[in-house]
Amino acid sequence: MKTDIKSLTLDELKAELAKMGEKAFKAGQIYSWLHKRGAVSFDEMTDISKNLRENLKNSYVIHNCSIEKKLVSMYDSTVKYLFRLHDGELIESVVMKYKYGYTICVSSQVGCKMGCRFCASGIAGFIRNLEPSEILSQIYTAQRDLDIRISHIVMMGVGEPLDNFDNVTKFLAMVSDENGLNIGMRNISLSTCGVVTGIYKLMEKKLQLTLSVSLHAPNDEIRSETMPVNNKWNIDTLLKACRDYTKATSRRISFEYAMIDGVNDSDECARQLASRLKGMLCHVNLIPVNSVKERDYKKSKEERIRSFIKILEAKGINTTVRRTLGSDINASCGQLRRGETNRE
Ligand code: SAH
Repeated sequence: MKTDIKSLTLDELKAELAKMGEKAFKAGQIYSWLHKRGAVSFDEMTDISKNLRENLKNSYVIHNCSIEKKLVSMYDSTVKYLFRLHDGELIESVVMKYKYGYTICVSSQVGCKMGCRFCASGIAGFIRNLEPSEILSQIYTAQRDLDIRISHIVMMGVGEPLDNFDNVTKFLAMVSDENGLNIGMRNISLSTCGVVTGIYKLMEKKLQLTLSVSLHAPNDEIRSETMPVNNKWNIDTLLKACRDYTKATSRRISFEYAMIDGVNDSDECARQLASRLKGMLCHVNLIPVNSVKERDYKKSKEERIRSFIKILEAKGINTTVRRTLGSDINASCGQLRRGETNRE
């Protein structure tokens, strides 16, 4: 089988070329074609000799994403992509425009094992992990297609990034490498549903990225009901890991809280949440839940959201409500892939 060349770091590529009897600087040129210029074929690499290009083709493959579907929001020019991978699997990415630049939301797995009840990503189960090249290609393909530079990344697409730890951390190293896109860790967020072992492993790497934790409930009763991962690591265990993480990295954690009508949005829930998060270096991001066709969860009423914010802020917890982008194109949470695989 041919090696996936886009998943090799520059050092790995140098070692591979040395084995072929080539000079190290050629690895730099190839790396730059792949990761700076988003080349999708060896033939684009015009400053590489034809002979070397042919040799490369014999041993390596460039895995790209092809655009299966592209939806552009009429409201806010958010773009949602459904990408097809080399083995035919489908993944989603979303590009959002903010004042400070373009942010891409990337997927880390095909499907998901975590089974959060309100989320469309895992309804059809888990298929496989994405390779570093496949996470990178989502960015490269979107940049080429839209003719833009992406400045921020959120790992909040389909999949649980900490359940694909090695590939995700390799991706992070490559995307922040100055020989590639050179996107600073401070411009990257990684979201987890609460895989505690993964949080500790990530902590050891002491990255300057923002860790988002999908909390979505103030107590174990509600959380276990909506997020099966809570049966493995309950809220106390998760929050302890978050405190340890902040201590080790000095980074503020962002807690995601999907507001679900009648499930987790009472004033009592807000009070419980505030007391659990007391004293933590954190931020709460409220997300009015998106209705998913297969589930009957509904968005909280405006009045509930306002009251929730008031209670949290009164306790000194910094709180924001996520702005909804791309609401006309099902821009969130595995909905597009779900719609597509359903039809097959
Ligand atoms: N597996 C990671 C990454 C997915 S991020 C995680 O769970 O954090 C996607 C974010 O959207 C998570 O906070 C997830 O809980 C949330 N989410 C999933 N389905 C949603 C829905 N229907 N409405 C609002 N948020 C949702």
